[in-house]
Amino acid sequence: MQIIRVVPVGPDRYADEGFHQNVEPPTECPNCGTHDTLSALGYYSRNVTSAERGVVRIRVRRFCCDVCHRTVSILPSFAQPYRLVLNATISEFFGGTISSNALSWLPLLKQYWNRFAKWLPKIRGIVNSVVERSPPQPDAAGWWEVIVKTFDGLERITSTLVSRFGVTLFGRYRCHSPGSIVI
Ligand SMILES: [Zn+2]
Repeated sequence: MQIIRVVPVGPDRYADEGFHQNVEPPTECPNCGTHDTLSALGYYSRNVTSAERGVVRIRVRRFCCDVCHRTVSILPSFAQPYRLVLNATISEFFGGTISSNALSWLPLLKQYWNRFAKWLPKIRGIVNSVVERSPPQPDAAGWWEVIVKTFDGLERITSTLVSRFGVTLFGRYRCHSPGSIVI
């Protein structure tokens, strides 16, 4: 299972300072609910974009539960599950800003937008329950506006949706459901 945790650093510092080594396990196993049973189980690596360097490789901390033997990985909140581009850059692009960061990843970002627009109708009820109010124009752009108003971008809504509902703005993934053994 994967959980998302807010970290006080961006991808460059996370990688340079070996921030993954300081990631503590959750006190409660998200798979079986027992306490103080998670032991370190190494890391897996993934890439994420960076304004300074293009792409940075980060290590994601994993733990294994001594009771249910399932794993949990802790994804830093600047990264979007299963997506290469940094959340901050996706947010800029979704908000209509083509910054130099976004320009480097334009085809991918357009794909993300299409995926968001296609997936949104399936989770409209869920999103509606976490935003301040429904948009006057209930298309993808309208929903993005109310998401930004409530959450200020992709980071916080993603951690909210993953922890409460096991979905992201781009899909539903097995790793966000309790009991999953995939990372
Ligand atoms: Zn467990």
